[in-house]
Amino acid sequence: MFDLTGRVALVTGGNGGIGLAMATGLAEAGATLVLTGRDTAKGAAAAAAIGPAAVFIPADITDPASAQRLVEATESQWGRLDILINNAGTSVRKQPEALSLADWTLVMDTNLTSTFICCQAAYPALQRAGGGKIINIGSMLSIFGAPFAAAYAASKGGVVQLTKSLATAWAKDGIQVNAVLPGWIETALTDRAREQVDGLYERVLARCPAGRWGKPADLSGIAVFLASSGSDFITGAAIPVDGGFSVQG
Ligand code: NDP
Repeated sequence: MFDLTGRVALVTGGNGGIGLAMATGLAEAGATLVLTGRDTAKGAAAAAAIGPAAVFIPADITDPASAQRLVEATESQWGRLDILINNAGTSVRKQPEALSLADWTLVMDTNLTSTFICCQAAYPALQRAGGGKIINIGSMLSIFGAPFAAAYAASKGGVVQLTKSLATAWAKDGIQVNAVLPGWIETALTDRAREQVDGLYERVLARCPAGRWGKPADLSGIAVFLASSGSDFITGAAIPVDGGFSVQG
């Protein structure tokens, strides 16, 4: 049920952090992969870490032309596309009154608009494959607010609502679209957050019932599940993977 042999996945931001951990899980379940991101050194290392089942194709996901190019490159490399993981993301941590329009646009383009564009570009390829799986990466800030995260929270809330609409539109094609909401996970993104937001590490630790920050590998299992036939009747869901952070009263 969780075997992904013969399946092909495209993972944005697959060259590090959560994206690479999800890609690794898919590869271990038998999938072949295209990883993308801007940093080619990180990309080469990520593809090498997975092995011959993965290639890295550099792209800036805020460029609208990149999505079409990535889908075409995936089909020409591996012959098909079955699984799209929209994981590339960024944050600009400032109080809302200090966020410039350029900050807002960067976060929205990277997190939300790229997700829309990649889903739209992937749709015909997923249809050609006879159905497929889209996994969009939200956040605890899809649910909550934070003073330093107005643009990020708006983008990640949007990811969940986009997920629901795509799920309803494309169920008829056998395409399931779900969102994953990671809790606080130790990556380059949150290393920067911990430098910029006083007391963040301790506050997360105190609230999280699991009593720890997450590791990227904590997201591998949900990626395999949502990419596999085991989740064929799950669509439009937003699933927290957070050690209980979001249910702590
Ligand atoms: P990382 O900073 O390690 O990963 C972000 C990834 O996005 C990188 O691979 C980066 O690659 C890629 N990326 C960013 N901008 C672009 C762009 N313009 N074009 C192409 N790729 C881009 O952080 P995480 O692994 O933590 O983040 C992964 C996802 O998980 C993000 O969507 C984030 O919002 C989300 N998330 C993370 C949480 C956490 O606690 N860590 C919690 C909740 C959600 P490159 O720099 O090479 O372009």
